[in-house]
Amino acid sequence: MHAPPPNARLTVDTAALVANWRVFARASGAADCGAAIKADGYGLGARAVADALVAAGCRELFVAHWHEAAALGPLPDNVRVAVLHGAGPAEMPMALASRAVPVLVTAAQVAAWKPSGRCCDVMVDTGINRLGLSPAQALSGLLDGLALDTLHSHLACAESPGHPLNEAQRRAFSDLAARIPARRHALANSGGVGLGAGYHFGMTRPGIGLYGGGPAPGDTPLAAVAGLSARIVQLRDVAPGQTIGYGATFTTTRPTRLAVVALGYADGYPRSLSNRGAALVGATRCPALGRVSMDLAAFDITDVADLGAVVEDGFLDVDFDLAATAAASGRTEYELLTGLGARYARIYR
Ligand SMILES: *Cc1c(COP(=O)(O)O)cnc(C)c1O
Repeated sequence: MHAPPPNARLTVDTAALVANWRVFARASGAADCGAAIKADGYGLGARAVADALVAAGCRELFVAHWHEAAALGPLPDNVRVAVLHGAGPAEMPMALASRAVPVLVTAAQVAAWKPSGRCCDVMVDTGINRLGLSPAQALSGLLDGLALDTLHSHLACAESPGHPLNEAQRRAFSDLAARIPARRHALANSGGVGLGAGYHFGMTRPGIGLYGGGPAPGDTPLAAVAGLSARIVQLRDVAPGQTIGYGATFTTTRPTRLAVVALGYADGYPRSLSNRGAALVGATRCPALGRVSMDLAAFDITDVADLGAVVEDGFLDVDFDLAATAAASGRTEYELLTGLGARYARIYR
């Protein structure tokens, strides 16, 4: 039996991932630096991401769901996995059987967890109005007798350093941290780390920055982590005046050589990159021509001088620079990464 070859490759540069984590760990000062690896490590493969970061010294991993914690499989004893959605009634048996700890988010979750005597984290909402206890609930005595490890809150506008909600949330959380004894307190996601030492508390929880997205928290630029390439299914020579793809949205004005590759919106290559995305052959930019369809996209390789290298490998590198691709597609960097589908061969190097 032969395994079918992959249609597309998602190359994950684990050295770049680790370098980015070290940038955040350094910028976090004395605070522990964790890593958000929910949504399958932002699409790149949670287990491989966890292995690389744990080897680099990361001891705190964050997932959203219990099935994400379970899918990680065994980790070293000194690595803590926390589940950001907490433990609802249906999840209690799994949560109690797991080594992962819940980040409890409602008063009912706290009340249900307390009798177990087991260690947990708690999320308090200081202004995002998403998950967490209200400050009043957190101060009501509800947390008395809870084996509380880390008290968390989460910033709404960390990627906008000038937004007044940042300082309001920092101040609200500082007040809570002074009044609620926990082993640690944690507020900052990637953007929050860059807001300064006042946001770091005892632990930080960067996510997107580890994967190369968003601004760096200091002067060291973040490294690109994810690279895409797709198998060339057909090379096609098109005469001037022909149209390309569904809807005939592009008309050639010159003799055009296309590489039609096995990458489409079902792979998370956004349809909004129709006539906007590009492939890269060495320094030559090869624009996407016509609509991106479900399983295919066409790139203009007319100007590629040395086609030999491309054809020999059979794969075309697709430009997946996060900031530029986000701008061109109208998607966020988070959406681009987490939208990468199940059809890639994920290759770690
Ligand atoms: C996803 C998440 C993070 C990581 O956020 P980034 O913006 O990706 O750095 C941190 N904390 C919580 C509670 C989250 O849900």
